[in-house]
Amino acid sequence: MIDPMSNSKRINNSMRPSPETVIRPEIMALQSYHVADATGMVKLDAMENPYRLPQAVLDQLSAVTITAEINRYPDPQALALKAMLRQSLQIPDQLEILLGNGSDEIIQMLIMAVAKPGAVVLGVEPAFVMFKMISVLCGARFVGVPLDTEFNLDLDVMLAVIEKESPQLIFIAYPNNPTGNLFDSERIERVIAAAPGLVVIDEAYQAFAEKTFMDRLSQYPNVVLMRTLSKSGLAGLRLGVLVGARVWISAIDKLRLPYNINVLTQLTAAKVLAHESLLAEQAALLRAERTQLYLALQTIAGVVVYQSAANFLLFRIADATTVFNRLKDQGVLIKDLNGSHKALVNCLRVTVGKPEENAQFIAALRASIY
Ligand SMILES: *Cc1c(COP(=O)(O)O)cnc(C)c1O
Repeated sequence: MIDPMSNSKRINNSMRPSPETVIRPEIMALQSYHVADATGMVKLDAMENPYRLPQAVLDQLSAVTITAEINRYPDPQALALKAMLRQSLQIPDQLEILLGNGSDEIIQMLIMAVAKPGAVVLGVEPAFVMFKMISVLCGARFVGVPLDTEFNLDLDVMLAVIEKESPQLIFIAYPNNPTGNLFDSERIERVIAAAPGLVVIDEAYQAFAEKTFMDRLSQYPNVVLMRTLSKSGLAGLRLGVLVGARVWISAIDKLRLPYNINVLTQLTAAKVLAHESLLAEQAALLRAERTQLYLALQTIAGVVVYQSAANFLLFRIADATTVFNRLKDQGVLIKDLNGSHKALVNCLRVTVGKPEENAQFIAALRASIY
Protein backbone atom coordinates (compact mmCIF):
# COMPACT_ATOMS: atom_id res chain seq x y z
CA MET A 1 0.00 0.00 0.00
CA ILE A 2 1.30 3.44 -0.92
CA ASP A 3 1.26 6.14 1.72
CA PRO A 4 0.80 9.39 -0.18
CA MET A 5 2.44 11.34 2.63
CA SER A 6 5.66 9.39 2.27
CA ASN A 7 5.96 10.44 -1.35
CA SER A 8 9.19 12.37 -1.70
CA LYS A 9 7.55 14.67 -4.24
CA ARG A 10 4.98 15.71 -1.67
CA ILE A 11 4.40 19.41 -1.77
CA ASN A 12 5.77 21.49 1.04
CA ASN A 13 2.97 23.53 2.63
CA SER A 14 4.54 26.86 1.77
CA MET A 15 4.85 25.77 -1.87
CA ARG A 16 1.29 24.53 -2.10
CA PRO A 17 -0.51 26.22 -5.01
CA SER A 18 -3.16 28.61 -3.77
CA PRO A 19 -5.51 31.04 -5.53
CA GLU A 20 -3.25 33.89 -4.39
CA THR A 21 -0.23 32.50 -6.20
CA VAL A 22 -2.05 31.22 -9.27
CA ILE A 23 -4.90 33.59 -10.09
CA ARG A 24 -4.30 37.12 -11.42
CA PRO A 25 -4.26 39.65 -8.54
CA GLU A 26 -6.87 41.87 -10.22
CA ILE A 27 -9.27 38.92 -10.25
CA MET A 28 -8.57 38.15 -6.57
CA ALA A 29 -9.32 41.82 -5.78
CA LEU A 30 -12.70 41.76 -7.55
CA GLN A 31 -16.01 41.46 -5.74
CA SER A 32 -18.20 38.89 -7.50
CA TYR A 33 -21.39 40.25 -9.04
CA HIS A 34 -23.92 40.20 -6.21
CA VAL A 35 -27.51 39.13 -6.84
CA ALA A 36 -29.84 39.62 -3.88
CA ASP A 37 -32.13 36.76 -2.81
CA ALA A 38 -35.65 37.76 -3.80
CA THR A 39 -37.60 34.74 -2.52
CA GLY A 40 -41.11 35.81 -1.56
CA MET A 41 -40.43 39.47 -2.31
CA VAL A 42 -42.08 42.02 -4.59
CA LYS A 43 -39.17 41.94 -7.02
CA LEU A 44 -38.40 45.37 -8.43
CA ASP A 45 -34.60 45.20 -8.48
CA ALA A 46 -33.53 43.78 -11.84
CA MET A 47 -35.48 45.48 -14.66
CA GLU A 48 -37.40 42.33 -15.48
CA ASN A 49 -40.74 42.46 -17.26
CA PRO A 50 -43.26 41.43 -14.56
CA TYR A 51 -45.80 40.02 -17.03
CA ARG A 52 -45.97 36.37 -17.99
CA LEU A 53 -46.90 35.26 -21.49
CA PRO A 54 -50.53 34.40 -22.35
CA GLN A 55 -51.45 30.75 -21.69
CA ALA A 56 -51.88 30.01 -25.42
CA VAL A 57 -48.29 31.09 -26.06
CA LEU A 58 -47.00 29.14 -23.06
CA ASP A 59 -48.73 26.07 -24.51
CA GLN A 60 -46.85 26.60 -27.78
CA LEU A 61 -43.59 26.90 -25.91
CA SER A 62 -44.30 23.67 -24.14
CA ALA A 63 -45.05 21.98 -27.49
CA VAL A 64 -41.75 23.09 -29.07
CA THR A 65 -39.89 22.06 -25.94
CA ILE A 66 -41.28 18.53 -26.15
CA THR A 67 -40.12 18.11 -29.76
CA ALA A 68 -36.75 19.83 -29.22
CA GLU A 69 -33.77 17.57 -29.99
CA ILE A 70 -31.86 18.25 -26.81
CA ASN A 71 -29.62 15.24 -27.53
CA ARG A 72 -28.20 17.22 -30.49
CA TYR A 73 -26.08 20.35 -30.51
CA PRO A 74 -28.02 23.47 -31.45
CA ASP A 75 -27.75 25.21 -34.82
CA PRO A 76 -24.38 26.97 -34.36
CA GLN A 77 -25.59 29.96 -36.41
CA ALA A 78 -29.15 30.02 -34.99
CA LEU A 79 -30.37 30.98 -38.45
CA ALA A 80 -34.11 30.60 -37.80
CA LEU A 81 -33.92 32.71 -34.67
CA LYS A 82 -31.80 35.37 -36.41
CA ALA A 83 -34.41 35.62 -39.17
CA MET A 84 -37.13 36.24 -36.55
CA LEU A 85 -34.96 38.82 -34.81
CA ARG A 86 -34.21 40.61 -38.08
CA GLN A 87 -37.91 41.03 -38.62
CA SER A 88 -38.92 41.87 -35.09
CA LEU A 89 -36.05 44.27 -34.30
CA GLN A 90 -36.20 45.77 -37.82
CA ILE A 91 -32.57 45.06 -38.55
CA PRO A 92 -31.61 46.40 -42.00
CA ASP A 93 -30.68 43.75 -44.61
CA GLN A 94 -27.12 44.97 -45.11
CA LEU A 95 -26.25 44.51 -41.41
CA GLU A 96 -25.09 41.27 -39.82
CA ILE A 97 -26.25 39.73 -36.52
CA LEU A 98 -24.27 38.01 -33.76
CA LEU A 99 -26.05 36.38 -30.81
CA GLY A 100 -24.83 36.10 -27.23
CA ASN A 101 -25.88 34.28 -24.10
CA GLY A 102 -27.31 37.58 -22.89
CA SER A 103 -25.71 40.84 -23.97
CA ASP A 104 -23.26 40.33 -21.09
CA GLU A 105 -21.61 37.64 -23.19
CA ILE A 106 -21.43 40.00 -26.16
CA ILE A 107 -19.76 42.66 -23.98
CA GLN A 108 -17.24 39.98 -23.03
CA MET A 109 -16.57 39.02 -26.68
CA LEU A 110 -16.09 42.68 -27.63
CA ILE A 111 -13.64 43.37 -24.83
CA MET A 112 -11.74 40.10 -25.32
CA ALA A 113 -11.37 41.04 -28.98
CA VAL A 114 -9.56 44.29 -28.19
CA ALA A 115 -7.74 43.41 -24.95
CA LYS A 116 -4.15 43.47 -26.15
CA PRO A 117 -1.62 44.73 -23.57
CA GLY A 118 -2.30 48.39 -22.89
CA ALA A 119 -5.76 48.35 -24.47
CA VAL A 120 -8.20 50.94 -23.12
CA VAL A 121 -11.97 50.57 -22.81
CA LEU A 122 -13.81 53.84 -22.31
CA GLY A 123 -17.17 54.28 -20.66
CA VAL A 124 -19.04 56.81 -18.59
CA GLU A 125 -19.74 56.82 -14.87
CA PRO A 126 -22.15 55.95 -13.48
CA ALA A 127 -23.06 53.29 -16.02
CA PHE A 128 -23.74 49.57 -16.34
CA VAL A 129 -21.14 47.91 -14.09
CA MET A 130 -20.36 45.06 -16.51
CA PHE A 131 -18.44 47.36 -18.89
CA LYS A 132 -15.86 47.95 -16.19
CA MET A 133 -16.00 44.54 -14.55
CA ILE A 134 -15.47 42.59 -17.80
CA SER A 135 -12.66 44.98 -18.80
CA VAL A 136 -10.86 44.10 -15.58
CA LEU A 137 -11.57 40.38 -16.15
CA CYS A 138 -10.04 40.59 -19.62
CA GLY A 139 -6.99 42.59 -18.57
CA ALA A 140 -8.02 45.80 -20.37
CA ARG A 141 -7.76 49.18 -18.65
CA PHE A 142 -11.18 50.75 -18.10
CA VAL A 143 -11.42 54.54 -18.07
CA GLY A 144 -14.72 55.97 -16.81
CA VAL A 145 -15.61 59.57 -17.69
CA PRO A 146 -18.00 61.16 -15.17
CA LEU A 147 -21.37 62.30 -16.55
CA ASP A 148 -22.31 65.95 -16.11
CA THR A 149 -24.66 67.11 -13.32
CA GLU A 150 -27.69 66.28 -15.49
CA PHE A 151 -26.37 62.76 -16.16
CA ASN A 152 -25.67 63.75 -19.75
CA LEU A 153 -22.40 63.11 -21.62
CA ASP A 154 -19.79 65.66 -20.60
CA LEU A 155 -18.65 66.22 -24.15
CA ASP A 156 -15.55 68.35 -23.53
CA VAL A 157 -14.12 65.89 -21.01
CA MET A 158 -15.15 62.94 -23.14
CA LEU A 159 -13.38 64.31 -26.23
CA ALA A 160 -10.27 65.18 -24.22
CA VAL A 161 -10.09 61.67 -22.74
CA ILE A 162 -10.63 60.08 -26.16
CA GLU A 163 -7.73 62.16 -27.49
CA LYS A 164 -5.49 61.28 -24.55
CA GLU A 165 -6.28 57.56 -24.20
CA SER A 166 -7.10 56.45 -27.78
CA PRO A 167 -9.57 53.81 -26.56
CA GLN A 168 -10.04 50.67 -28.64
CA LEU A 169 -13.64 50.46 -27.48
CA ILE A 170 -16.23 52.96 -26.19
CA PHE A 171 -19.47 51.81 -24.50
CA ILE A 172 -22.52 54.06 -24.49
CA ALA A 173 -25.81 52.77 -23.13
CA TYR A 174 -28.83 54.45 -24.73
CA PRO A 175 -30.74 54.89 -22.39
CA ASN A 176 -28.15 54.68 -19.63
CA ASN A 177 -28.42 52.35 -16.62
CA PRO A 178 -28.72 53.25 -13.70
CA THR A 179 -29.60 56.87 -14.54
CA GLY A 180 -32.39 55.99 -17.01
CA ASN A 181 -31.87 58.94 -19.35
CA LEU A 182 -31.06 59.10 -23.06
CA PHE A 183 -27.85 61.01 -23.73
CA ASP A 184 -28.11 63.85 -26.19
CA SER A 185 -27.79 62.15 -29.58
CA GLU A 186 -25.69 64.97 -31.08
CA ARG A 187 -23.13 64.48 -28.33
CA ILE A 188 -23.08 60.76 -29.08
CA GLU A 189 -22.45 61.57 -32.74
CA ARG A 190 -19.52 63.80 -31.74
CA VAL A 191 -18.08 60.92 -29.71
CA ILE A 192 -18.52 58.56 -32.66
CA ALA A 193 -16.78 61.02 -34.97
CA ALA A 194 -13.86 61.45 -32.55
CA ALA A 195 -13.46 57.76 -31.69
CA PRO A 196 -10.28 56.11 -33.00
CA GLY A 197 -11.83 52.68 -32.38
CA LEU A 198 -15.17 50.91 -32.16
CA VAL A 199 -18.20 52.49 -30.44
CA VAL A 200 -20.81 50.16 -28.94
CA ILE A 201 -24.29 51.57 -28.47
CA ASP A 202 -26.07 49.42 -25.90
CA GLU A 203 -29.82 49.69 -26.41
CA ALA A 204 -30.88 47.25 -23.68
CA TYR A 205 -33.91 49.45 -22.87
CA GLN A 206 -34.97 50.31 -26.42
CA ALA A 207 -38.46 48.86 -25.92
CA PHE A 208 -39.11 51.55 -23.31
CA ALA A 209 -37.21 54.40 -24.96
CA GLU A 210 -38.56 54.05 -28.50
CA LYS A 211 -35.38 55.77 -29.72
CA THR A 212 -32.66 53.96 -31.61
CA PHE A 213 -29.49 54.30 -33.66
CA MET A 214 -30.49 51.24 -35.73
CA ASP A 215 -31.61 53.18 -38.80
CA ARG A 216 -28.46 55.36 -38.75
CA LEU A 217 -26.03 52.51 -38.12
CA SER A 218 -24.82 52.03 -41.70
CA GLN A 219 -23.79 55.71 -41.82
CA TYR A 220 -21.02 55.06 -39.31
CA PRO A 221 -18.03 52.86 -40.15
CA ASN A 222 -17.14 52.32 -36.47
CA VAL A 223 -20.38 51.63 -34.60
CA VAL A 224 -22.09 48.40 -33.54
CA LEU A 225 -25.38 48.23 -31.70
CA MET A 226 -26.45 45.89 -28.91
CA ARG A 227 -29.95 44.77 -27.95
CA THR A 228 -31.23 42.21 -25.48
CA LEU A 229 -34.53 40.41 -24.91
CA SER A 230 -33.92 40.41 -21.14
CA LYS A 231 -35.59 43.69 -20.22
CA SER A 232 -38.53 43.24 -22.57
CA GLY A 233 -39.68 39.90 -21.20
CA LEU A 234 -37.30 36.98 -21.78
CA ALA A 235 -34.61 37.48 -19.12
CA GLY A 236 -34.62 33.76 -18.32
CA LEU A 237 -33.74 32.75 -21.87
CA ARG A 238 -30.50 34.81 -21.97
CA LEU A 239 -30.42 36.24 -25.46
CA GLY A 240 -28.39 39.26 -26.52
CA VAL A 241 -28.02 40.62 -30.03
CA LEU A 242 -25.16 42.50 -31.69
CA VAL A 243 -25.84 44.25 -34.99
CA GLY A 244 -23.27 45.81 -37.28
CA ALA A 245 -21.37 45.77 -40.55
CA ARG A 246 -20.08 42.39 -41.70
CA VAL A 247 -16.40 43.34 -41.20
CA TRP A 248 -16.97 43.94 -37.47
CA ILE A 249 -19.42 41.12 -36.83
CA SER A 250 -17.32 38.45 -38.59
CA ALA A 251 -14.25 39.51 -36.57
CA ILE A 252 -16.11 39.43 -33.24
CA ASP A 253 -17.73 36.11 -34.18
CA LYS A 254 -14.31 34.43 -33.96
CA LEU A 255 -14.48 34.86 -30.18
CA ARG A 256 -17.91 33.30 -29.88
CA LEU A 257 -17.84 29.81 -28.41
CA PRO A 258 -19.62 27.31 -30.65
CA TYR A 259 -23.25 26.60 -29.70
CA ASN A 260 -23.49 29.54 -27.27
CA ILE A 261 -27.25 29.82 -27.83
CA ASN A 262 -28.87 26.64 -26.57
CA VAL A 263 -31.58 24.63 -28.31
CA LEU A 264 -34.38 25.67 -25.96
CA THR A 265 -33.55 29.37 -26.19
CA GLN A 266 -33.41 29.21 -29.99
CA LEU A 267 -36.80 27.52 -30.26
CA THR A 268 -38.70 29.37 -27.55
CA ALA A 269 -37.41 32.86 -28.35
CA ALA A 270 -38.34 32.40 -32.02
CA LYS A 271 -41.80 31.20 -30.97
CA VAL A 272 -42.38 34.24 -28.74
CA LEU A 273 -41.15 36.62 -31.45
CA ALA A 274 -43.59 35.04 -33.91
CA HIS A 275 -46.30 36.72 -31.84
CA GLU A 276 -45.26 40.04 -33.23
CA SER A 277 -46.86 42.59 -30.96
CA LEU A 278 -46.84 40.60 -27.71
CA LEU A 279 -43.70 41.99 -26.06
CA ALA A 280 -44.32 45.42 -27.60
CA GLU A 281 -47.75 45.57 -25.94
CA GLN A 282 -46.27 44.66 -22.57
CA ALA A 283 -43.61 47.35 -23.02
CA ALA A 284 -46.36 49.89 -23.79
CA LEU A 285 -48.15 48.92 -20.54
CA LEU A 286 -44.92 49.38 -18.63
CA ARG A 287 -44.27 52.77 -20.22
CA ALA A 288 -47.69 53.92 -19.07
CA GLU A 289 -47.00 52.51 -15.59
CA ARG A 290 -43.65 54.30 -15.54
CA THR A 291 -45.48 57.61 -15.87
CA GLN A 292 -47.83 56.70 -13.00
CA LEU A 293 -44.96 55.61 -10.80
CA TYR A 294 -43.00 58.78 -11.62
CA LEU A 295 -45.98 60.94 -10.64
CA ALA A 296 -46.54 58.95 -7.44
CA LEU A 297 -42.88 59.37 -6.43
CA GLN A 298 -43.08 63.09 -7.14
CA THR A 299 -45.88 63.48 -4.61
CA ILE A 300 -43.71 62.11 -1.78
CA ALA A 301 -41.97 64.88 0.15
CA GLY A 302 -38.19 64.47 0.21
CA VAL A 303 -38.03 62.33 -2.93
CA VAL A 304 -36.24 63.62 -6.02
CA VAL A 305 -37.11 61.41 -9.00
CA TYR A 306 -35.31 61.55 -12.34
CA GLN A 307 -36.91 61.32 -15.79
CA SER A 308 -36.43 57.90 -17.33
CA ALA A 309 -36.66 56.42 -20.81
CA ALA A 310 -36.18 52.91 -19.42
CA ASN A 311 -38.31 50.50 -17.34
CA PHE A 312 -36.92 51.78 -14.05
CA LEU A 313 -36.75 55.03 -12.11
CA LEU A 314 -33.81 56.47 -10.24
CA PHE A 315 -34.63 58.56 -7.18
CA ARG A 316 -32.80 60.28 -4.38
CA ILE A 317 -33.96 60.29 -0.77
CA ALA A 318 -32.37 61.05 2.60
CA ASP A 319 -30.89 57.97 4.34
CA ALA A 320 -31.37 55.88 1.21
CA THR A 321 -29.81 52.72 2.62
CA THR A 322 -32.07 52.85 5.69
CA VAL A 323 -35.08 53.34 3.44
CA PHE A 324 -33.92 50.46 1.23
CA ASN A 325 -33.71 48.17 4.26
CA ARG A 326 -37.11 49.25 5.55
CA LEU A 327 -38.60 48.47 2.13
CA LYS A 328 -36.95 45.06 2.23
CA ASP A 329 -38.38 44.41 5.70
CA GLN A 330 -41.79 45.09 4.18
CA GLY A 331 -41.15 42.58 1.39
CA VAL A 332 -40.23 45.01 -1.39
CA LEU A 333 -36.85 44.53 -3.07
CA ILE A 334 -35.40 47.42 -5.10
CA LYS A 335 -31.75 48.37 -5.75
CA ASP A 336 -29.61 50.38 -3.36
CA LEU A 337 -27.09 52.44 -5.34
CA ASN A 338 -25.91 54.49 -2.37
CA GLY A 339 -22.16 54.01 -2.10
CA SER A 340 -21.74 52.65 -5.63
CA HIS A 341 -20.60 55.99 -7.09
CA LYS A 342 -20.26 59.52 -5.79
CA ALA A 343 -22.92 60.80 -8.21
CA LEU A 344 -25.35 58.26 -6.72
CA VAL A 345 -25.17 59.20 -3.04
CA ASN A 346 -28.56 58.41 -1.48
CA CYS A 347 -29.91 57.03 -4.76
CA LEU A 348 -32.23 54.06 -5.13
CA ARG A 349 -33.46 52.41 -8.33
CA VAL A 350 -36.87 50.82 -8.71
CA THR A 351 -37.99 48.70 -11.66
CA VAL A 352 -41.45 49.44 -13.03
CA GLY A 353 -43.67 46.50 -12.08
CA LYS A 354 -47.34 45.65 -12.37
CA PRO A 355 -49.73 48.33 -11.06
CA GLU A 356 -50.33 46.40 -7.82
CA GLU A 357 -46.59 45.91 -7.26
CA ASN A 358 -45.90 49.59 -7.83
CA ALA A 359 -48.70 50.47 -5.39
CA GLN A 360 -47.16 48.14 -2.79
CA PHE A 361 -43.81 49.80 -3.33
CA ILE A 362 -45.23 53.32 -2.95
CA ALA A 363 -47.12 52.35 0.22
CA ALA A 364 -44.03 50.71 1.69
CA LEU A 365 -41.93 53.74 0.75
CA ARG A 366 -44.35 56.11 2.49
CA ALA A 367 -44.22 53.88 5.55
CA SER A 368 -40.39 53.92 5.45
CA ILE A 369 -40.00 57.67 5.76
CA TYR A 370 -40.19 58.87 9.36
C1 LIG B 1 -29.30 44.65 -18.17
C2 LIG B 1 -28.31 45.27 -19.08
C3 LIG B 1 -27.53 44.51 -19.94
C4 LIG B 1 -27.41 43.00 -19.85
O1 LIG B 1 -28.44 42.33 -20.34
P1 LIG B 1 -28.41 40.74 -20.59
O2 LIG B 1 -28.79 40.63 -22.03
O3 LIG B 1 -29.43 40.22 -19.66
O4 LIG B 1 -27.04 40.20 -20.33
C5 LIG B 1 -26.69 45.16 -20.82
N1 LIG B 1 -26.60 46.49 -20.82
C6 LIG B 1 -27.32 47.26 -19.99
C7 LIG B 1 -27.15 48.73 -20.03
C8 LIG B 1 -28.18 46.67 -19.08
O5 LIG B 1 -28.85 47.44 -18.21
